[in-house]
Amino acid sequence: MRKAIFPGSFDPITLGHEDIIKRSLPLFDEIVIAIGVNAEKKYMFSLEDRKRFIEETFQHEPKISVITYEGLTTELCRKLNANFILRGLRNPADFEFEKAIAHTNRRLAKIETVFLLTAAKTSYISSSIVRDVIRNNGQYEMLVPDAVRVTK
Ligand code: ADP
Repeated sequence: MRKAIFPGSFDPITLGHEDIIKRSLPLFDEIVIAIGVNAEKKYMFSLEDRKRFIEETFQHEPKISVITYEGLTTELCRKLNANFILRGLRNPADFEFEKAIAHTNRRLAKIETVFLLTAAKTSYISSSIVRDVIRNNGQYEMLVPDAVRVTK
C-alpha cells in the first residue's frame, strides 16, 4: 500500500496546498495531512481551525485524513507505517530548502520524499502572504479553499 504523509503548518491551507494534494491522489492509496505543532512558532489560526479547514476541504475524499503531530516527521512516518513524504515545490528557494530536509530524512529513516511542482496558477501563493492579506483586510478568499473563513 502506498501511504504518504503531507506535512506542513497549513496556517491556513491555500489553493496551492489543495492543488498538490488533489494531484497526488492518483499516486497514493492513502494521504495523511499532518499539521506540525512547533512550540516556538506563532500561528494565526488555532490548531483546531487549521485542522477543520482541511477536513472540510476534503470531506468527500476517503483517501485523505488529517492529524496533528509534534516531533520528527520521519518518526511519524514510522509510527503510521508511511513510506513517502509529499511536498510541493514552488521555486528554487523551496528546492534548496527541501533538498536538505529530504536528504536528512532519507538518512534518518529511508523515507522517499515525492515532490510535485505547483500548478502555475497557484505557484505564487503562500500561507504567509495569505496571512498578510487577512491582517490588512484584503480579499483572501480567492487564495484559499472555501472552507477557510475568518471570523471577526
Ligand atoms: P511548512 O511550514 O512546512 O513550509 P507549509 O504549510 O507552508 O508548511 O507548506 C507545506 C507544503 O506545501 C510544503 O511542501 C510547501 O512547499 C507546499 N506549498 C506551500 N504553498 C504551496 C503552493 N502555493 N503550491 C504548492 N505547494 C505549496
